[in-house]
Amino acid sequence: MFCSKCGTINDDNAFRCVNCGEQLQGGGPGSSTQQAPGGVGNVPNYLVQAILITLCCCLPFGIVAIVYAAQVNGKLQAGDYQGALECSGKAKMWCWLGFGIGLLANLIIFGLQIIGAIATGAGSMRGY
Ligand SMILES: [Zn+2]
Repeated sequence: MFCSKCGTINDDNAFRCVNCGEQLQGGGPGSSTQQAPGGVGNVPNYLVQAILITLCCCLPFGIVAIVYAAQVNGKLQAGDYQGALECSGKAKMWCWLGFGIGLLANLIIFGLQIIGAIATGAGSMRGY
C-alpha cells in the first residue's frame, strides 16, 4: 500500500511507513476498522417485530423486546456499537420468545376448543 503522507510503497502488512514512519490505514494492532465488519449503523433494532409481537402474540415479552429495541438506536448514536449489538440480540431473543409463547398459547386454546367440541359432540351423542 502507499503511504498517505509521502507516497512510499510499503508492504501490505506494514503498519508504519518505512520512509517517514507515518501510521498506515488498515494495519496495526490499534486499528478499529476490523471491529465492525458490517459497518456501524447496520445493527437491526427489531422495533417493528417487537411492536407486532406486543400487538399480536404476547404483551409482556413484546414490551421487553421494545425496551431493548428502543435502546439500539440510542446506543448507536452514542457510538456504543457493542452495546447496540447486545441490545439488538436481546430484542431479537425476546421477539422469538414472545412469538413462540404466543404461538404455543394459541395452539393450546385451539386444542382446548377441539377437545371441547369433541367432548360436547360425544356428550350429545351419548345422550341419544
Ligand atoms: Zn511515508
